[in-house]
Amino acid sequence: MDKVQQFIKFLNEMGYEEIKIEGAFMKEKENDISALEKLKEEVLKCKKCRLAETRHNVVFGEGNPKTNLMFIGEAPGEQEDLQGRPFVGRAGQLLTRFLNLFGIERERVYITNIVKCRPPKNRNPKPDEIKTCYPYLNKQIEIIKPKVILCLGAFAARTVLNLPEKTPISKIRGQEFKVKDYIVIPTFHPAYLLRNRRGETDFQRDLEVALRIAGMI
Ligand code: URA
Ligand code: SF4
Repeated sequence: MDKVQQFIKFLNEMGYEEIKIEGAFMKEKENDISALEKLKEEVLKCKKCRLAETRHNVVFGEGNPKTNLMFIGEAPGEQEDLQGRPFVGRAGQLLTRFLNLFGIERERVYITNIVKCRPPKNRNPKPDEIKTCYPYLNKQIEIIKPKVILCLGAFAARTVLNLPEKTPISKIRGQEFKVKDYIVIPTFHPAYLLRNRRGETDFQRDLEVALRIAGMI
């Protein structure tokens, strides 16, 4: 029975939402992969805000477009800017390690950021930059249709949930917010965990809840 359950979970993760046993017909989650590719092409050329002047690469996001779990960070850092990939620096490696702890490879989820270009010297993205870039993230969410969104850090959480500017992450982390068809869970940013190991227990718990809702564990 365990094997059957695992197989069904696996199919669900591959995007199958319904299984009809009679005739073994399966309905796939309808993700428009070509729309995501088109969007990526557009974003890679984007010069809509001043961050285009200083970036090396646009960091669109990457992972499984059919996943039920999406991670949203703040903005690319130095390594991300150089490689054009999200969460590949020290914070990213920590995130990957936590996923692996649950037996999950990072390729099975989708990872992106609020803004797609690195702010100079990793300063916070400015409100006008977020406003200009946010429609891209919205389109990614619409195409991927995740069940759960894990917001990494106060910045991502405040932006996605439209919360007041000074809302502390410690107040909202671990809570489940229903937004449209998905559940948003704010948690600590992995870069924060690098400095505050004590946050790891909460982070692990939030990740576990998200993975469960996504049906991945
Ligand atoms: N921090 C973020 O918020 N995003 C990244 O992609 C890397 C580090
Ligand atoms: Fe375009 Fe977003 Fe990059 Fe600004 S941060 S240039 S809006 S992709």
